[in-house]
Order: sequence, then C-alpha cells, then structure tokens
Amino acid sequence: MSSKGLLIVFSGPSGAGKDTVLKSLMEREPGVRLSVSATTRGPREGEQDGRDYYFISRERFDQLVAEDKMLEHAEYCGNCYGTPSEPIEAWTQEGCDVILEIEVQGGAQIKKKRPDCVSIFILPPSLEVLEHRLRRRGTDSEEAIQKRLAAAKGEIAQALQYDYVIVNDDLEPAVEQMAEILRSEKQKSIRNKDFIERML
Ligand code: ADP
Ligand code: 5GP
Repeated sequence: MSSKGLLIVFSGPSGAGKDTVLKSLMEREPGVRLSVSATTRGPREGEQDGRDYYFISRERFDQLVAEDKMLEHAEYCGNCYGTPSEPIEAWTQEGCDVILEIEVQGGAQIKKKRPDCVSIFILPPSLEVLEHRLRRRGTDSEEAIQKRLAAAKGEIAQALQYDYVIVNDDLEPAVEQMAEILRSEKQKSIRNKDFIERML
C-alpha cells in the first residue's frame, strides 16, 4: 500500500492541548514523527533545545528565512516560529507520518505548498476551559496568557479551513480520534494510486 508518509498540519489555540495529545499519540504510534520548529521565544522551564524547539536569535531566524530554509514561518504573540524544511521530505519519503504543530498562518502556507497535507484543528470544549488550562499549565506570564487568549478567537475562526476538527474534552477520545484520522487518510484511494497501478 502507500509507502509515503503523511504530512499533517496540527493547529489550535494555545492551551487547547496540542502538546498533550501529541505526546500521547507518539507513545502509541511509533511511525509518527514530530517536526522540531525554530523559535525566537525563550525556553520555558523543562523545555530542551533541539527536542522541544531550536531556540534561536531573531538574527539567526531571519537568516534561515532569507536562505529559504523554512518550509513556513510566522509571527505569533511577538515571537517568530518556523519549520525547518530539511527533515520533512526525507521523513515522509521514509514512510514516516510527520506532524507539524504550527499556528494558523503557517498552516495556510503549508496547505498552499503541499495540498496533499492533512490538516487537523484541535479545539478546547469552551473558551472558559481554554483560559483555565492556560492558567493551570503555569508556564506563561499573565501578559503572555492575555495575548494568547486574545489570539484564540481569531485562530478558532480559521478552524473551518482545516480538514478535521477534534474537541479535546477528555484526553483519550481526542487521541483516539487523531489516530483514527491518520488511519483513514492512509486508506484514501489517491494515496494508494501507485499500488493500484502496479497491480494493473
Ligand atoms: P497547547 O500545546 O495546545 O498549548 P498543552 O498541551 O500545553 O496545550 O495543554 C495545556 C494545559 O491543559 C496543560 O496543563 C495540559 O496538561 C492540560 N490539558 C491538555 N489536555 C487536557 C485534557 N483533555 N483534559 C484536561 N487537561 C488537559
Ligand atoms: P508556544 O509558544 O506555545 O510553544 O507556541 C505558540 C504557537 O506557535 C502555537 O500555536 C504553536 O503551534 C505555534 N508554532 C510552533 N512552532 C511553529 C512553527 O514552526 N511555525 C508556526 N507557524 N507556528 C508554530
């Protein structure tokens, strides 16, 4: 069947549970890889350079963009974020499904460049729960929380541009829905065109 991996755009407002869902998904789906983004944001407590992000200066970020080494990039709440191009093609060719956990401007850029991507938007059960989760996470200053909440409605308004929506109320069903989407996408006839043609 299809030997090429999926390219998955995964977006949602800050605090919706993207990291939490992905962590759980990666534990049960060994064929899935997560792209490590570059950012000019400073590391949060517990975050590691090269694992969670490549934490780089604004000058270095601008240089990578100028050298066309970012598949997409965007500014979000005062910091720059971007996806290094290099590993993406190699991993999907190897047959791995690659997830880009990126915000909506970057998601739109990927959809244009790679219309074959699968896009998934994760929502909190309500805006109240979103605020509660952001505060309980305890990683951001009050100012950063306010900026993220202010950005949330604009981001949620973009959810209809995505192929799928997952509501992250209870974690397990949300993770199962994500796994199910990936399984179904792999069975799409168009993704198995080569296999069908070889048989003929
Ligand atoms: P994001 O990556 O979208 O910014 P996180 O994964 O960091 O969001 O989640 C934000 C907070 O909400 C974290 O404290 C996390 O433990 C919590 N959280 C995530 N998913 C759930 C869930 N289904 N139920 C309750 N709390 C959750
Ligand atoms: P955080 O600062 O909470 O880690 O991330 C803030 C936002 O930036 C999140 O919506 C996250 O998905 C997004 N983001 C992370 N990496 C990238 C990236 O490489 N490109 C884009 N466009 N957004 C990203």
